[in-house]
Amino acid sequence: MRPALLMQAEHDRGAHARGLAPAAGAYGVYAANGEVALRGNGLARLPLQGVGDAFLGVLEESEVYALPQGTPLPAGSRLLSVRECAAYLPPQEMSLALAAIGLANWRASHRFCPRCGGALAPQRDGWVLVCADGHENFPRTDAAVIMAVTDAADNLLLANNLRHRENRMWSILAGFLEPGETLEAAVRRECQEEVAVAVTNLSYVGSQPWPFPASLMVGFRARSTQVRPKLSVQSDELVAACWFDRAQLSEALLAGELQLPSEGSIARMMIDTWRAGEE
Ligand SMILES: [Zn+2]
Repeated sequence: MRPALLMQAEHDRGAHARGLAPAAGAYGVYAANGEVALRGNGLARLPLQGVGDAFLGVLEESEVYALPQGTPLPAGSRLLSVRECAAYLPPQEMSLALAAIGLANWRASHRFCPRCGGALAPQRDGWVLVCADGHENFPRTDAAVIMAVTDAADNLLLANNLRHRENRMWSILAGFLEPGETLEAAVRRECQEEVAVAVTNLSYVGSQPWPFPASLMVGFRARSTQVRPKLSVQSDELVAACWFDRAQLSEALLAGELQLPSEGSIARMMIDTWRAGEE
């Protein structure tokens, strides 16, 4: 099974060059509000601004920086969402784009120190925001679990979320981690809370950054020991939930009764893996 595009996200974060002045040939990329500047079919390569640039890493021996909000874009460049970028960008450029988006979201939403209310300014290559009192604020990542739950007969649990009622998109369950909780406990709790199903046999699938604004999706497989245990939709976020066997899902897709999450997402990869009968 082809890994989900965003799960391939990995670029050289250039730890050796952190804290140093930009090298010759360094350039900037720009992200704002979940969108990335492209020119032609690649990331728009822009001049450094000097103030507020954040070091992202190294691509093909050039240092790459995320430029601060409000950087003017040259003619010929355009802002595209991550989904739109997926049609153009190779994995390393996508990885840079995700890092730039995450940093931009963090900096846009952390303008004042949560401890003293003082204004924050970037330090250490843009990866720390510091107030006049020296309180340091680091980028945060909010973990969420996403789980492909199967029953004892290998049927898959899919649900229709309220946000996707209109487009009839059905997907696997997901939810945010709570403070002090393990990933495994979050999987079990979300299954109980959302559809009242007990799951066991958890195994890790992989993770996908989703910096909108600051999430990391952590994928698990999980099983119910029963066959098609009754689903009781508890959550007001869900419209409906159902067990599917492979033929049922294929027929529903063919008939246009539902659609699956977009290709490239960890949710789609996990559903496709089950449809292909792969572990
Ligand atoms: Zn402070």
